[in-house]
Order: sequence, then structure tokens, then C-alpha cells
Amino acid sequence: MAKRVTGHEIEKLIQLLAKVPGLGPRSARRAALHLIKKRDQLMGPLATAMAEAHQKVKICSCCGNIDTADPCTVCTDERRDHAVIIVVEDVSDLWALERAAAMNTAYHVLGGVLSPLNGVGPDDLNIKGLIDRVARGGIREVILAVNATVEGQTTAHYITDHLAGLEVKITRLAHGVPVGGELDYLDEGTLSAALRARTTI
Ligand SMILES: [Zn+2]
Repeated sequence: MAKRVTGHEIEKLIQLLAKVPGLGPRSARRAALHLIKKRDQLMGPLATAMAEAHQKVKICSCCGNIDTADPCTVCTDERRDHAVIIVVEDVSDLWALERAAAMNTAYHVLGGVLSPLNGVGPDDLNIKGLIDRVARGGIREVILAVNATVEGQTTAHYITDHLAGLEVKITRLAHGVPVGGELDYLDEGTLSAALRARTTI
């Protein structure tokens, strides 16, 4: 067994940090050490921000976005065109599209994609919420901005089928999105072009 070099509080910090995506045990150790060295300037404010976020984070009951208000900031923004809904897999995609600043619309966050292999079915996702939203009326266009993966496209087909009877135009991103590509990793120019050149289904 390896000899311990720190107390268990620091060990625990490292173990938790190692669970953050993008950090492994090695980066977690570096991050922990950096936080400890910047105890007042960084570690304290980070701990406070985390505690506040932990307490206040909500999932928007309308669109599935993550925010501290329900309905969320996007849903209550009067300067947006709420007759157009961009459907995304995850909040990270919403953020990516907002960074690209190509559209000024509403969103709908599915919370994943259909994946029979991983046991993810329609009821595990925020799909019914989308169909209900469109069925209530006042929606002109639904833009399916799901990733260009097999699961993403399966999900897009499922949604298209279930919106078929409703008076709404359904579009998807142009082929500027590489196959297998994830929106979050695209540069803003590509994302913005894919959105502007979207095609009707
Ligand atoms: Zn919302």
C-alpha cells in the first residue's frame, strides 16, 4: 500500500475532483494543490459558489434547461422568438449554440438521446414535454439540433414521427456538422452556419 502523504480531507478533495469530466487522478492532484495554494483567492470563493449553485440549481419545467429560476432565464426572455424551439440533447449544446449567437429563440433540452443499448427509452428523456409544448400551439418551427451520431439521428426520427400530426415546420442542422460530431466541440462559425443553412424534414 502506498504511503499517505496528506490528511484525509485533502485526499477526499482529490478523489472528488478526479470524478470531474476532463480531470483524472493526476490533474485532480494538481488542481487540489493549486486550490490549496490559492486558498483565499480561489478555494474559498469556489466553495461558496458551489454551495450556492448546489442549493439553487433547478431544472426548468418548460424547457429542461438548468438554471436557478423556473421557468428559466431563456424561457422568460421577452426578446426571444418563442415560436421557434431549438431541440438539443444537453445543456452544453444550448450553451454552445448561444455562444454561436446565430439565433434568438427558445430551446428544449432532451437530457440525452434514445439508446436502446444503454436502456434509454423515450420516457427517460424530456420528449413528451416537447410534444406537449408544440401541441399547445403557437410554435412555428422546431429545429432538431441533435448530434450527428446514430443515437442523435434515431432520436430526431422519433421526434419527427411524433410531431407529424401537428402544424409545425421541422428542420434540422445542415451538413456542416460532421458525422459523429458533437455540437459542443464545434467552433462557433461552423455551428452558426449549420443553423442558418438548416433544412426542412
Ligand atoms: Zn426554460
